[in-house]
Amino acid sequence: MSQKQTLSFQAEVAQLLHLVTHSLYSNKEIFLRELISNASDACDKLRFEALNDASLYEDAPNLDVRVTFDKAARTLTIVDNGIGLSEQEAIDNLGTIAKSGTREFMGRLSGDQKADAQLIGQFGVGFYSGFIVADKITVESRRAGLPADQGVRWVSGGAGDFEVESVNRAQRGSSVTLHLRDDALDYLGTWKLKSIIGKYSDHISLPILMRKEEWKEGEKAEGGTAGGTLGGEMVLTDEWETVNQASALWSRPKKDITPEQYQEFYKQISHDSEPPLSWSHNRVEGATEYTQLLFIPSRAPYDLWNREKAAGVKLYVKRVFIMDDAEALLPAYLRFVKGVIDSADLPLNVSRELLQESRDVRAIREGSTKRVLSMLEDLARSEKDEAASDEDKAKYGKLYAEFGAVLKEGLGEDSGNRDRLAKLLRFASTNSSAAAVSLSDYKARMKEGQDAIYYITADSLPAARNSPQLEVFRKKGIEVLLMTDRVDEWALNYLHEFDGTALQSVARGAVDLGKLQDESEKKAAEEAAETFKPVLEKLKAALKDKAEDVRVTTRLVDSPACLVVEDAGMSMQLARMLKQAGQKVPEMKPVLEVNADHPLVKKLDGSDHFDDLAHILFDQALLAEGGLPDDPAAYVRRVNSLLV
Ligand code: ADP
Repeated sequence: MSQKQTLSFQAEVAQLLHLVTHSLYSNKEIFLRELISNASDACDKLRFEALNDASLYEDAPNLDVRVTFDKAARTLTIVDNGIGLSEQEAIDNLGTIAKSGTREFMGRLSGDQKADAQLIGQFGVGFYSGFIVADKITVESRRAGLPADQGVRWVSGGAGDFEVESVNRAQRGSSVTLHLRDDALDYLGTWKLKSIIGKYSDHISLPILMRKEEWKEGEKAEGGTAGGTLGGEMVLTDEWETVNQASALWSRPKKDITPEQYQEFYKQISHDSEPPLSWSHNRVEGATEYTQLLFIPSRAPYDLWNREKAAGVKLYVKRVFIMDDAEALLPAYLRFVKGVIDSADLPLNVSRELLQESRDVRAIREGSTKRVLSMLEDLARSEKDEAASDEDKAKYGKLYAEFGAVLKEGLGEDSGNRDRLAKLLRFASTNSSAAAVSLSDYKARMKEGQDAIYYITADSLPAARNSPQLEVFRKKGIEVLLMTDRVDEWALNYLHEFDGTALQSVARGAVDLGKLQDESEKKAAEEAAETFKPVLEKLKAALKDKAEDVRVTTRLVDSPACLVVEDAGMSMQLARMLKQAGQKVPEMKPVLEVNADHPLVKKLDGSDHFDDLAHILFDQALLAEGGLPDDPAAYVRRVNSLLV
């Protein structure tokens, strides 16, 4: 047995201790997570070593962690029956920092507490976090396999040094006793400890035990007429109860987990009472190692549109809970996905800021994004799979109705996966009453000679379907996709082509049906434009405040006129939307296109009411696409003057 000796902490440890006690003060409770995690690691190590030497279990094969407290002594103790520490190990492991990179880490500390608190997230503070709440820590331990008289007691006040001596210890493993500071006495309570364990350590696969509490009546009040008591208090009993779930679902092999268990787990983490549409559970090994268990809900949460409150993925590190809503783990357009990512490589104390910068996290984010996309692709595939059940066939439609609009944000946000996303899009179309035409469906139906995928954006489906801009397409039997989500206009800016075919708005630029238009039609149009020229000039002059240009079009069949924007311009619909949202929109004038064959347009030539007709033509074109004339009263006056 060795004498008691006093040793100095390695310089870095002293520095770290100072930092821990001074900068992690705002989040004290994490000490319990760190110490339970150490206890759990010690049990994992024992389990591993015992693979080769079962005698290490001695006569206590059931591994667990026990959390106890003593109000009178003001101590909180975390006990494990894991691998334990020999005296030398206690000196080495609790007196120095063995981790590589410690020196560089310390060198980067600025002395600015706020900045350092962030940095420290990169670096597990582990055992030393006990000093956030304790002014003295006593560790008693015995390494598995060593005799009882080779136990060790390690004591430190967290300043420059620590004491070690050997002790007799029958029990294998470690007990870490925190002598709490005056301002940390609220940890001496079952409820408080249970709630912290529930928050951070629920999914530690080891049982965490606490003593059961029991209500004990106080002394009978003497001589009182009511015969009441002087109250009572909760006292600890000798009985132990498990206070965590003691099983990390995702760390179990897939084959041992039933669909019901997955669904239950989903409900627990999502607070959604509906079962999820699908899930995917994988262990990923590569540059960084992690487990992902991801769920696609069957309905949108009420706050889906709040991009700030993004992501429903919880981050764990080695089965220890780190944080909720870790937005760095999935891009914002997949914020509807729920689940757990458990990294084997990240430090336990990783902060949100550091997550953004971590290379491991970037790899996890990429991997998880791809995983979600393939889940979506699988659902989309069953939609068309003859062999799939009706329920499975309906899933993608359900998903798309709930999350399709959010998914489209990805076109702008995630250029790397744009092509995969484009395949997942579904639209209404002039060709079908269903709102579920994919771009591939469309392509497969394209006409001989058609070289673009045509679409129109509008505020509503009826407005899109009845838009004058569709007339020539209808006449020629060309399908046009009808886009009515608010996000379409923005998202389509990022999708210029699909599978080698350009996407073309029917409300943008001059209509060019290319090979779909035959030579005679083209010629007739050019001739019409020529003879119509003088009228066009007059129209331009009359509408110079409203229209950028006036030209003859082949776009229209039944309507007299329509408005289009130039190729590079902002669409009328987007401009309206931005204005409604109170945003400044650059002054823009659309192009008025007129149908030279229309009786109303023909009437223009030589009319006494040329000016009124010109303005009515323009305002009606605006009305037809869901806009409003700048001066509705003037419009009404003009129409009425013609009516009488
Ligand atoms: P980390 O756990 O990240 O390595 P810590 O500072 O938390 O860093 O712990 C330092 C070392 O002390 C651990 O690596 C481990 O070897 C040892 N240790 C801490 N707690 C225990 C425990 N309960 N049982 C056995 N060893 C422990």
